Amino acid sequence: MITFKDIQIKFADFHAIKNLNLQVKEGEFFTFLGPSGCGKTTILRSLVGFIKPSSGQILLSNKDITNVPIEKRGISMVFQSYALFPTMNVYENIAFGMRVKQASKSDVDREVRDIAQKVDLSEGQLGKKVSELSGGQQQRVAIARALVLKPSILALDEPLSNLDAKLRVQLRNELKDLQKKFGITTIYVTHDQEEALTLSDRIAVFNHGIVEQVGTPKEIYNQSKTEFVCNFIGDINKIDPDIIQNSRLKDFIDPQKISYIRNEKVSLSPLPQIKDAVQLKGKIVDQEFYGLYTKYLIEVSGGGLLKTIEKESGLDYNKVGDEIDIYINVNDILQY
Ligand code: ATP
Repeated sequence: MITFKDIQIKFADFHAIKNLNLQVKEGEFFTFLGPSGCGKTTILRSLVGFIKPSSGQILLSNKDITNVPIEKRGISMVFQSYALFPTMNVYENIAFGMRVKQASKSDVDREVRDIAQKVDLSEGQLGKKVSELSGGQQQRVAIARALVLKPSILALDEPLSNLDAKLRVQLRNELKDLQKKFGITTIYVTHDQEEALTLSDRIAVFNHGIVEQVGTPKEIYNQSKTEFVCNFIGDINKIDPDIIQNSRLKDFIDPQKISYIRNEKVSLSPLPQIKDAVQLKGKIVDQEFYGLYTKYLIEVSGGGLLKTIEKESGLDYNKVGDEIDIYINVNDILQY
């Protein structure tokens, strides 16, 4: 288990991390998620040992490692830029850490070939210079180089962000499989909410050096604790006060609070089995086709706009100008 206890990190008078308390369980895939500059890389670097906290403690299985040197922590890091040695071939890059630790030639050879196979690097690729490889292959080398040292923790800092969208999804799935196979505690830093939701056992959402929420992907998405989290994770409707005032919604929720509802929870079909469903009337004023679904913008009768999505079914049910009914389960409304 990793414990961050009362961690503060200051750069001169700038407070990058403000009193972090967090626990990561053994074998967990844990993600630090947040916008650029929120402090997620800083806290990862403090775990690996590149940055010393201004105050607080970092514990590994209850042992204080705050002042333990990097090489004695048993943590391997994979960087966004891969940080491979460009003049060495793939084999030498993967072998480097074991050679520094003076492992025998036969151990190095066995482990390098074994890990290369596990991350899908071929025999032929082992002899190539890293500069001859594609971005995705270089990332596999970086992951192999980290895993060959058999670390107790794998720290990944935006490892997929230099890759194109399709490769990112493919490597993301491979990374998840590898993590499950090795059962290794993994800390993953990203600003990409989709990556965080699909990969993680749990997520900590950072904002300006503080953690706004820790939870499973579903908790973070469906029960966002703060207004920041609900806006950062996915597309969402901020419900216009007119929509609340002009409907039965005001009987169920606090009209003084700010209210949100996720796009896909605004339904164009009745919700017969839901007791607390409220019906509104509206007109479709815009639509965008995304392939998997169509997004509609609806002008609600009496004022206010709502977005919703409808899964692609091959049928054309709705179009701009149509008068439609909208159904909302009041329990899906988030209030702050
Ligand atoms: P990004 O995704 O852009 O890397 P991040 O959330 O990882 O963002 P950090 O790199 O952790 O953010 O930086 C957090 C804040 O601390 C930023 O405002 C950054 O400018 C500042 N910072 C980071 N390292 C230093 C440093 N060595 N000296 C001064 N300020 C720093």
